[in-house]
Amino acid sequence: MASGSPSRARSSVPTRALVLRTTDYRDSDRIAVLFTEQFGLVHVLARGARKSARRFASGLPAFAVLQARLSSGTAELRNLQSASMDMGYPTVLGDLEWMRLLGSAWTALRTLLAPHQPEPELFQSCVDLLQVLNSHTSQELPERDRNDLLSWRLCSWLVHVLGQLGQWPDLEKCATCGRRARPDQSALMDSRSGGLRCRSCGGGSVRLAANLRAKLMAPTFQSGFKIPVPELSMLEHVPLIPQAVPVVRTVWEHATGKPLTWPWEL
Ligand SMILES: [Zn+2]
Repeated sequence: MASGSPSRARSSVPTRALVLRTTDYRDSDRIAVLFTEQFGLVHVLARGARKSARRFASGLPAFAVLQARLSSGTAELRNLQSASMDMGYPTVLGDLEWMRLLGSAWTALRTLLAPHQPEPELFQSCVDLLQVLNSHTSQELPERDRNDLLSWRLCSWLVHVLGQLGQWPDLEKCATCGRRARPDQSALMDSRSGGLRCRSCGGGSVRLAANLRAKLMAPTFQSGFKIPVPELSMLEHVPLIPQAVPVVRTVWEHATGKPLTWPWEL
Protein backbone atom coordinates (compact mmCIF):
# COMPACT_ATOMS: atom_id res chain seq x y z
CA MET A 1 0.00 0.00 0.00
CA ALA A 2 1.22 3.50 -0.86
CA SER A 3 0.40 4.67 2.65
CA GLY A 4 3.49 2.86 3.96
CA SER A 5 5.91 4.40 1.42
CA PRO A 6 8.69 6.78 2.55
CA SER A 7 7.22 9.73 0.60
CA ARG A 8 3.92 9.40 2.42
CA ALA A 9 5.70 8.97 5.73
CA ARG A 10 7.44 12.30 5.17
CA SER A 11 4.17 14.15 4.60
CA SER A 12 3.15 13.87 8.20
CA VAL A 13 1.83 16.56 10.48
CA PRO A 14 2.34 17.05 14.22
CA THR A 15 -0.45 17.68 16.69
CA ARG A 16 -1.23 17.23 20.35
CA ALA A 17 -3.76 14.44 20.82
CA LEU A 18 -5.90 12.61 23.35
CA VAL A 19 -6.72 8.94 22.90
CA LEU A 20 -10.48 8.43 23.23
CA ARG A 21 -10.48 4.73 22.40
CA THR A 22 -8.19 1.99 21.10
CA THR A 23 -8.90 -1.38 19.55
CA ASP A 24 -6.24 -4.02 18.88
CA TYR A 25 -5.94 -4.83 15.21
CA ARG A 26 -4.10 -7.72 13.55
CA ASP A 27 -0.95 -8.97 15.32
CA SER A 28 0.73 -5.79 16.38
CA ASP A 29 -1.41 -2.84 15.24
CA ARG A 30 -3.92 -0.68 16.95
CA ILE A 31 -6.84 1.38 15.66
CA ALA A 32 -7.49 4.46 17.74
CA VAL A 33 -9.96 7.31 17.96
CA LEU A 34 -8.04 10.49 18.70
CA PHE A 35 -9.19 13.96 19.62
CA THR A 36 -6.45 16.11 18.14
CA GLU A 37 -5.82 19.77 18.69
CA GLN A 38 -5.30 20.51 14.97
CA PHE A 39 -7.82 18.27 13.24
CA GLY A 40 -10.48 17.43 15.80
CA LEU A 41 -11.72 13.83 15.88
CA VAL A 42 -9.72 11.42 13.72
CA HIS A 43 -9.56 7.64 13.38
CA VAL A 44 -6.03 6.35 13.01
CA LEU A 45 -4.21 3.13 12.30
CA ALA A 46 -1.08 2.79 14.44
CA ARG A 47 1.04 0.16 12.71
CA GLY A 48 3.15 -1.77 15.16
CA ALA A 49 1.79 0.16 18.14
CA ARG A 50 1.83 -2.95 20.31
CA LYS A 51 5.49 -3.68 19.45
CA SER A 52 7.38 -0.49 18.62
CA ALA A 53 8.70 1.23 21.71
CA ARG A 54 10.61 3.59 19.44
CA ARG A 55 7.64 5.11 17.59
CA PHE A 56 5.05 4.67 20.34
CA ALA A 57 7.16 5.27 23.41
CA SER A 58 4.28 5.47 25.81
CA GLY A 59 1.91 3.11 24.05
CA LEU A 60 -1.38 4.90 23.49
CA PRO A 61 -2.56 5.73 27.01
CA ALA A 62 -6.08 7.13 27.38
CA PHE A 63 -5.64 9.80 30.01
CA ALA A 64 -2.59 11.67 28.81
CA VAL A 65 -1.72 14.38 26.29
CA LEU A 66 0.37 12.95 23.45
CA GLN A 67 2.50 14.51 20.74
CA ALA A 68 1.38 12.67 17.64
CA ARG A 69 2.40 12.66 13.98
CA LEU A 70 -0.38 11.80 11.56
CA SER A 71 -0.31 11.24 7.82
CA SER A 72 -1.70 14.35 6.17
CA GLY A 73 -5.02 14.39 4.35
CA THR A 74 -8.54 13.66 5.43
CA ALA A 75 -8.77 9.91 4.80
CA GLU A 76 -11.31 8.19 7.00
CA LEU A 77 -8.49 6.17 8.59
CA ARG A 78 -5.22 8.11 8.79
CA ASN A 79 -1.85 6.64 9.74
CA LEU A 80 -0.49 7.45 13.15
CA GLN A 81 3.23 7.49 12.51
CA SER A 82 4.44 8.16 16.03
CA ALA A 83 3.20 9.22 19.44
CA SER A 84 5.16 10.33 22.46
CA MET A 85 4.11 11.57 25.88
CA ASP A 86 3.56 15.33 26.10
CA MET A 87 2.00 15.39 29.57
CA GLY A 88 1.09 12.59 31.97
CA TYR A 89 -1.30 12.70 34.94
CA PRO A 90 -0.13 10.19 37.58
CA THR A 91 -2.75 11.11 40.21
CA VAL A 92 -5.54 10.49 37.70
CA LEU A 93 -4.13 7.06 36.81
CA GLY A 94 -4.24 6.01 40.46
CA ASP A 95 -7.79 7.22 41.02
CA LEU A 96 -10.71 5.00 40.05
CA GLU A 97 -13.33 7.76 40.32
CA TRP A 98 -11.36 10.18 38.17
CA MET A 99 -10.92 7.45 35.58
CA ARG A 100 -14.66 6.74 35.61
CA LEU A 101 -15.35 10.43 35.16
CA LEU A 102 -12.88 10.70 32.31
CA GLY A 103 -14.25 7.51 30.75
CA SER A 104 -17.65 9.21 30.52
CA ALA A 105 -16.10 12.53 29.45
CA TRP A 106 -14.14 10.91 26.62
CA THR A 107 -17.17 8.83 25.55
CA ALA A 108 -19.13 12.07 25.30
CA LEU A 109 -16.46 13.55 23.02
CA ARG A 110 -16.37 10.45 20.85
CA THR A 111 -20.15 10.61 20.49
CA LEU A 112 -20.57 14.34 19.94
CA LEU A 113 -17.54 15.48 17.93
CA ALA A 114 -17.85 15.54 14.15
CA PRO A 115 -14.80 14.01 12.39
CA HIS A 116 -12.17 16.41 10.97
CA GLN A 117 -13.72 19.43 12.66
CA PRO A 118 -11.05 21.25 14.69
CA GLU A 119 -12.23 22.30 18.18
CA PRO A 120 -9.06 23.80 19.72
CA GLU A 121 -10.89 25.44 22.64
CA LEU A 122 -12.56 22.20 23.56
CA PHE A 123 -9.21 20.45 23.29
CA GLN A 124 -7.81 22.95 25.79
CA SER A 125 -10.80 22.25 28.07
CA CYS A 126 -9.80 18.58 28.08
CA VAL A 127 -6.28 19.51 29.12
CA ASP A 128 -7.73 21.74 31.86
CA LEU A 129 -9.94 18.88 33.07
CA LEU A 130 -6.97 16.48 33.27
CA GLN A 131 -4.98 19.12 35.09
CA VAL A 132 -7.62 19.91 37.69
CA LEU A 133 -8.30 16.23 38.38
CA ASN A 134 -4.61 15.53 38.70
CA SER A 135 -4.11 18.16 41.39
CA HIS A 136 -6.20 16.34 44.05
CA THR A 137 -7.54 12.83 44.53
CA SER A 138 -11.28 12.11 44.53
CA GLN A 139 -10.82 10.71 48.06
CA GLU A 140 -10.38 14.29 49.26
CA LEU A 141 -14.05 14.91 48.48
CA PRO A 142 -16.22 14.43 51.59
CA GLU A 143 -17.39 10.83 51.58
CA ARG A 144 -21.03 11.66 52.31
CA ASP A 145 -21.41 13.80 49.17
CA ARG A 146 -18.78 12.17 46.99
CA ASN A 147 -21.06 10.61 44.35
CA ASP A 148 -23.09 13.81 44.13
CA LEU A 149 -20.02 15.99 43.71
CA LEU A 150 -18.56 13.64 41.11
CA SER A 151 -21.91 13.78 39.31
CA TRP A 152 -21.92 17.57 39.51
CA ARG A 153 -18.50 17.74 37.89
CA LEU A 154 -19.55 15.40 35.11
CA CYS A 155 -22.77 17.41 34.62
CA SER A 156 -20.84 20.63 34.21
CA TRP A 157 -18.45 18.93 31.79
CA LEU A 158 -21.32 17.66 29.64
CA VAL A 159 -23.03 21.07 29.70
CA HIS A 160 -19.72 22.62 28.66
CA VAL A 161 -19.19 20.20 25.76
CA LEU A 162 -22.79 20.48 24.57
CA GLY A 163 -22.52 24.28 24.88
CA GLN A 164 -19.25 24.47 22.94
CA LEU A 165 -20.76 22.38 20.16
CA GLY A 166 -23.91 24.51 20.03
CA GLN A 167 -26.16 21.76 21.38
CA TRP A 168 -27.06 23.10 24.82
CA PRO A 169 -30.60 24.54 24.71
CA ASP A 170 -31.80 27.98 25.70
CA LEU A 171 -33.33 27.36 29.12
CA GLU A 172 -35.18 30.67 29.11
CA LYS A 173 -37.86 29.78 26.59
CA CYS A 174 -39.96 26.96 25.21
CA ALA A 175 -38.04 25.20 22.41
CA THR A 176 -41.27 24.72 20.46
CA CYS A 177 -43.18 28.03 20.64
CA GLY A 178 -40.51 30.36 22.03
CA ARG A 179 -42.59 31.53 24.99
CA ARG A 180 -40.37 32.77 27.82
CA ALA A 181 -40.45 31.15 31.23
CA ARG A 182 -40.46 33.57 34.19
CA PRO A 183 -37.16 33.44 36.13
CA ASP A 184 -38.94 32.20 39.27
CA GLN A 185 -40.87 29.54 37.37
CA SER A 186 -40.07 25.85 37.23
CA ALA A 187 -40.18 24.41 33.72
CA LEU A 188 -40.72 21.11 31.95
CA MET A 189 -38.35 19.44 29.50
CA ASP A 190 -38.51 16.54 27.12
CA SER A 191 -35.99 14.74 24.94
CA ARG A 192 -38.06 15.17 21.75
CA SER A 193 -37.42 18.91 21.71
CA GLY A 194 -34.19 18.71 23.72
CA GLY A 195 -35.16 21.77 25.74
CA LEU A 196 -38.00 23.42 27.60
CA ARG A 197 -41.51 22.54 26.53
CA CYS A 198 -44.34 24.65 27.93
CA ARG A 199 -47.68 23.13 28.92
CA SER A 200 -49.48 24.47 25.84
CA CYS A 201 -46.92 22.69 23.65
CA GLY A 202 -47.48 19.43 25.51
CA GLY A 203 -45.09 19.76 28.47
CA GLY A 204 -42.42 17.19 29.29
CA SER A 205 -41.59 14.47 31.78
CA VAL A 206 -38.54 16.14 33.37
CA ARG A 207 -39.13 18.96 35.83
CA LEU A 208 -36.54 21.70 36.04
CA ALA A 209 -36.86 23.71 39.25
CA ALA A 210 -36.37 27.48 38.97
CA ASN A 211 -33.25 27.55 41.17
CA LEU A 212 -31.59 24.74 39.21
CA ARG A 213 -32.53 26.42 35.93
CA ALA A 214 -30.81 29.60 37.12
CA LYS A 215 -27.68 27.62 38.08
CA LEU A 216 -27.54 25.80 34.74
CA MET A 217 -27.91 29.10 32.86
CA ALA A 218 -25.16 30.87 34.78
CA PRO A 219 -22.05 31.26 32.60
CA THR A 220 -19.94 29.94 35.47
CA PHE A 221 -21.68 26.58 35.31
CA GLN A 222 -20.11 25.68 31.98
CA SER A 223 -16.67 26.20 33.48
CA GLY A 224 -17.62 24.38 36.70
CA PHE A 225 -15.63 21.31 35.66
CA LYS A 226 -12.48 23.32 36.42
CA ILE A 227 -13.37 23.92 40.08
CA PRO A 228 -10.59 22.48 42.27
CA VAL A 229 -11.55 19.76 44.75
CA PRO A 230 -11.36 21.91 47.91
CA GLU A 231 -13.86 24.41 46.43
CA LEU A 232 -16.07 21.69 44.98
CA SER A 233 -16.48 20.30 48.50
CA MET A 234 -17.89 23.65 49.61
CA LEU A 235 -20.62 23.94 46.95
CA GLU A 236 -23.90 24.78 48.62
CA HIS A 237 -26.13 23.27 45.95
CA VAL A 238 -25.53 19.59 46.65
CA PRO A 239 -29.30 18.91 47.08
CA LEU A 240 -29.90 20.06 43.48
CA ILE A 241 -27.51 17.54 41.96
CA PRO A 242 -29.88 14.54 41.67
CA GLN A 243 -32.25 16.81 39.70
CA ALA A 244 -29.51 18.09 37.41
CA VAL A 245 -28.60 14.68 36.03
CA PRO A 246 -32.02 13.99 34.37
CA VAL A 247 -31.87 17.46 32.80
CA VAL A 248 -28.46 16.79 31.26
CA ARG A 249 -29.66 13.34 30.24
CA THR A 250 -32.66 14.82 28.42
CA VAL A 251 -30.47 17.17 26.38
CA TRP A 252 -27.98 14.38 25.71
CA GLU A 253 -30.65 12.02 24.42
CA HIS A 254 -31.96 14.68 22.08
CA ALA A 255 -28.46 15.51 20.79
CA THR A 256 -27.24 11.95 20.30
CA GLY A 257 -30.31 9.71 20.12
CA LYS A 258 -28.58 7.50 22.71
CA PRO A 259 -29.21 6.86 26.40
CA LEU A 260 -26.67 8.32 28.82
CA THR A 261 -25.29 5.93 31.41
CA TRP A 262 -24.20 7.46 34.70
CA PRO A 263 -21.13 6.10 36.50
CA TRP A 264 -22.38 6.73 40.05
CA GLU A 265 -25.51 6.02 42.05
CA LEU A 266 -27.39 9.13 43.03
ZN1 LIG B 1 -44.41 26.23 24.00
